[in-house]
Amino acid sequence: MPKMIRKGDLPQKTCPVCRKPFAWRKKWERDWDNVIYCSERCRRTGKTANADKP
Ligand SMILES: [Zn+2]
Repeated sequence: MPKMIRKGDLPQKTCPVCRKPFAWRKKWERDWDNVIYCSERCRRTGKTANADKP
């Protein structure tokens, strides 16, 4: 049975660096589709680790 979407539920993604789920934040409201990492720190780590990514 599908989970009901409650008021206040925010979209979530899982950070590929620290493997933790993180929730939508106001500062990402215009950029959520492009958000991959949970934090600036993970973004730097991820970019360094995936240098061969297309
Ligand atoms: Zn992270």
